[in-house]
Amino acid sequence: MASQLKIKKIQRALEHLSPHEFHCTLCPQECRVNRQEGEKGVCESGVLARLSHAVLHFGEEPVLSGYQNILSDPLNKDSSSAGSGTIFFSGCNLKCLFCQNYQLSWLNQGNNLTPIELAETILVLQSQGALNINLVSPMHMLIPILRALELAYKKGFHLPVVYNTNAYEKVQTLNLLEGIIDVYLPDLKFFSSDAARTCTNRPDYFQYSSLAIKEMFRQKPNLKFNKNETVLEGLIIRHLFLPGMLEDTVNIIEWIAGNLSLSVGLSLMSQYTPCFRPPKAIQKKLSLKDYRQGVEHAQTLGFETLFIQPELFESDEHLTPDFDKKIPFKWK
Ligand code: SF4
Repeated sequence: MASQLKIKKIQRALEHLSPHEFHCTLCPQECRVNRQEGEKGVCESGVLARLSHAVLHFGEEPVLSGYQNILSDPLNKDSSSAGSGTIFFSGCNLKCLFCQNYQLSWLNQGNNLTPIELAETILVLQSQGALNINLVSPMHMLIPILRALELAYKKGFHLPVVYNTNAYEKVQTLNLLEGIIDVYLPDLKFFSSDAARTCTNRPDYFQYSSLAIKEMFRQKPNLKFNKNETVLEGLIIRHLFLPGMLEDTVNIIEWIAGNLSLSVGLSLMSQYTPCFRPPKAIQKKLSLKDYRQGVEHAQTLGFETLFIQPELFESDEHLTPDFDKKIPFKWK
């Protein structure tokens, strides 16, 4: 019954979204390209979904990946350790200069899949015991993803759908996803236009992402969990600390507290490693002192569901992927 409702919402969304294949203004880049004719916008997407990997991911927040420590107990297959069924899409509509997934976002590595093939990929992850389907950078692939989801629901798909986005999105597009997306997982990357201009050349990043996240919050204001404490629905906002940008971080944390709620999930990430073409200002490591100061600020404000990475990470650790490998992460 729930899947019937989802199918109807997907069909309605596709009616509104399909014209973008001929004149794409899905996101704030507003490239106006005809994807059906092979024209490519900033995201370099066509009409088919292009993706690099579909894997069980054990390094997301525990409410997404499960609570067992796969690194110390890799053979444990109980239901709370199955991992997040993560699909890494190629291309990106934002393209941060320091992107750790640059092989996908900038180099567009991956293979094109038909909606039937993508639906099969989703169902395989479900059969492997995935706790959810985690769509990484889905916005520019929205139309083929929805076509695949419709097919997957018709074949018994039933997991929570996680929308893992850079948040450089339009409210009108997100509005059509109401009732389809279960968990919104946006990054909120930059507060100041200077920081956004330096790192992405999109000084209007916060203007769009703040409105987009407000829309996500309108749709999913409350976090809900199953008995294993993995998330069923809600909003979890991620923020990656950048070196020397503590003021931007503090402004972001205060904006979330003042404009949304202290009960949204907030994931404060320390895993920054300079990748690809990092701007000069951030060609260094994050300071642990800055990270701790930002975390303490969030704790003082009273965020109820806070995810923290208690240490700084090195570039060769499991959180920096290599998408040239069959398994991009080092789980063992
Ligand atoms: S989705 Fe891609 S082609 Fe469409 S407006 Fe955004 S960047 Fe441009």
